Amino acid sequence: MVLTDPTNLRIPGPTPVPPQVVEAMSRPIIPHRSAEFAEMFEGLLAAMKRIFNTKDDVYVVAGTGSTGWEASIVNTLSPGDTVIAAVNGNFGVRFCAVAEKFDLNVVRLDFEWGQPVAPDIVAQALKDHPEAKMVQLVHNETSTGVLNPMQQLGEVIRAHGALFVADSVSGAAGAPVYMDDWQCDIVFTGSQKAFMCPPGLSIMGLGERVWDKTAGAGYHRFLLDFDRIRESARGGSTPSTAPVTLLFGLKAACDMIEAEGLEALYARHTRLGEHTRAGLRKLGLELVAAEGYASPTVTVAWTPEGITAGQIQQALIDRHGIYIATGQAHMADRAIRIGHMGWTAEPELDRTLEALDDVLERIPAAVG
Ligand code: PLP
Repeated sequence: MVLTDPTNLRIPGPTPVPPQVVEAMSRPIIPHRSAEFAEMFEGLLAAMKRIFNTKDDVYVVAGTGSTGWEASIVNTLSPGDTVIAAVNGNFGVRFCAVAEKFDLNVVRLDFEWGQPVAPDIVAQALKDHPEAKMVQLVHNETSTGVLNPMQQLGEVIRAHGALFVADSVSGAAGAPVYMDDWQCDIVFTGSQKAFMCPPGLSIMGLGERVWDKTAGAGYHRFLLDFDRIRESARGGSTPSTAPVTLLFGLKAACDMIEAEGLEALYARHTRLGEHTRAGLRKLGLELVAAEGYASPTVTVAWTPEGITAGQIQQALIDRHGIYIATGQAHMADRAIRIGHMGWTAEPELDRTLEALDDVLERIPAAVG
């Protein structure tokens, strides 16, 4: 499959990369231990702090979204520690699998997919497990299109004292991240979603309580060692050779984000979410996310009876050159997922919605 128009990439990440970012990435490589690099890198980390709304530090290392899962575990916990995982979608499930690999005692709280994580259930779990060292949850569940109530969750978690770790891989830079207001200790994301860059960078906001934990954490670590990452960043660089090209791209993306303005950026994503949901409803599709908790970056809808997500996906590719995502796990065949984050606007979403209308009319005829 060849995407003739980059904006026809309508999966919830990786997302289309704007020309400004492409141009920044075509700059000649500079040494990663140079004043020029340090200036760019320090500017990038400062911009990240503003985007994460934190007075604490944000670091950028080579990696992907999942890097944040592993890094938050190996830097703050020890084997056998209890971690509460609030699961309301497939990325919550994936965190549990990572935590189990690291021999953590995982207390899994399951919520219906499409519903938000309920703060009172998390509060009760923390009462039942005073030994819990961490609560992990997904800010923006990419498998269901649900945005979790972070402010309320932060309040109950901080009352207990466990570290609050938020996976904002498909949220940050599209949905607001108020790391300090939410009392989050770690918020992480990747470069390839609302940050409009190619995959390859992990972005991690680390609150001050994290630094009390690193010395006692019982895992070997090297590439993802927070202390080494902080030490290098203080000197304007990264512990290993920096992914210079991607960092140029991410800096250009942050410049675009800040030129738009964070409030305007959040408002645009809210509008794009509303626009997509209204369009899907008009086509008669039922949305997965509960009313009031819909994501501004990704929308997930159930497929019509008798039509699989794979059929819709293939027909959109074949007839329109548009690529959307199918559902995940038990929803794989039954749901479609449309990304509307980063470098995107209403007219592109309209093209997808019109194309969807076209293929939905044809598929039943095709299957007879
Ligand atoms: N968490 C969430 C919410 C995601 O959406 C994703 C990827 O889509 C990940 C984690 C994993 O990120 P990556 O595949 O970049 O490691």
